[in-house]
Amino acid sequence: MDAEPYYGPDFGLLRGRDPEVARVLVDELDRLGDGVQLIASENFASPAVLAALGSTLTNKYAEGYPGRRYYPGCEVVDRAERLAVDRARRLFGAQHVNVQPYSGATANLAAYAALLQPGDTVLAMALPHGGHLTHGSRLNFSGRWFDVVSYGVRRDTELIDYDEVRELALRHQPKMIICGATSYPREIDFAAFRGIADEVGAWLLADVAHTAGLMAGGVLPSAVPYADVVTFTTHKGLRGPRGGGVMCTRELAPRIDRAVFPFVQGGPLMHVVAAKAVAFGEALRPSFGEYARRVAENARVLADALAAEGMRPVSGGTDSHLALMDLRETGVSGAVAERRCAAAGITLNRNMIPYDPEPSAVTSGIRVGTPCVTTQGMGAEQMKEVASLVARAVREPGAVTRVRRRVRELARAHQIYPREL
Ligand SMILES: *Cc1c(COP(=O)(O)O)cnc(C)c1O
Repeated sequence: MDAEPYYGPDFGLLRGRDPEVARVLVDELDRLGDGVQLIASENFASPAVLAALGSTLTNKYAEGYPGRRYYPGCEVVDRAERLAVDRARRLFGAQHVNVQPYSGATANLAAYAALLQPGDTVLAMALPHGGHLTHGSRLNFSGRWFDVVSYGVRRDTELIDYDEVRELALRHQPKMIICGATSYPREIDFAAFRGIADEVGAWLLADVAHTAGLMAGGVLPSAVPYADVVTFTTHKGLRGPRGGGVMCTRELAPRIDRAVFPFVQGGPLMHVVAAKAVAFGEALRPSFGEYARRVAENARVLADALAAEGMRPVSGGTDSHLALMDLRETGVSGAVAERRCAAAGITLNRNMIPYDPEPSAVTSGIRVGTPCVTTQGMGAEQMKEVASLVARAVREPGAVTRVRRRVRELARAHQIYPREL
């Protein structure tokens, strides 16, 4: 355990050439190695993914698509993109995949651009109920350039209100309906959304940024058979490089491809595309299905254990990698809980709960996710301990030093990037 951890490809060279930046890498790995990461949208990419990211493919301009680029000399990088596309298609059973989006947000922008005109009506999940900024926030292109109507969850069950979705769809006749969320712990009924979209003649966009890994691993049902377009990220549950992707039917492929490039983006990040190919290859292995099952199992155990500590899991539990905990019984706000946990070395975020009486800077809840800790090899036993450490950090600020010490021990016993990887 005393061997130097894995800082990334050719770290020694960086340390020699630029000690200031090298120090940032060391300090960040120390931060991760000393703490417990419960941010639901984060994960730890493999050294193979990091190696592709740190490669010379970053140098190549390859505007366009394999076999039809705007620049010569792309025949080699074309192979990386073809590998990424073929593997993603196999992984998700999709007819067409575009692997060039720089992020989940640009993947969504491309999906809007392919299917809509500015001013069109979109029906999407409300942000305070779990939706994403790109699903209609005023601060985002989606809320500025489109007429967004929002659906939410029911007050009693805290599950998506499919009756409300249908009513709003019939009343507002949206051109596109979006399902998929950023802090919704439950399975989404894609077939129900498909039925509503068909009833009003709307496109259905499934944004599975958070759950693509669980979908690939067979833990959650796939949106691919139901949605016209599926957008995803590669760095969350999928455990790949930071980036996005778009899947669609064969018919929509030309529209999606033209929307990603040249409408939304310029040259693709070919080193990231190669790293996506590596990550899809990893996700195709049976061990990834096992990983996905453990992520969901850990989330269930963590949510139950936090419930036993007096926090209430929104919707009563989770089907996925994340849980949303209502802290009102503890008398501590989401913001204070976030700060106290951070002081104890536990990284999690405050989060609005449905119908939250507090503003977004305060909130009544926290969001916890298990992709990172599961990648580190933690299981049910560790989740129970993490829950008790979270509860102590939240309730007993005076115990912060003792909690911090135990968090560090736990993290060090489950190193992320040890030398032997
Ligand atoms: C994370 C997320 C995105 C955006 O991904 P970025 O890579 O951060 O741009 C989009 N949609 C949903 C639902 C997300 O959770």
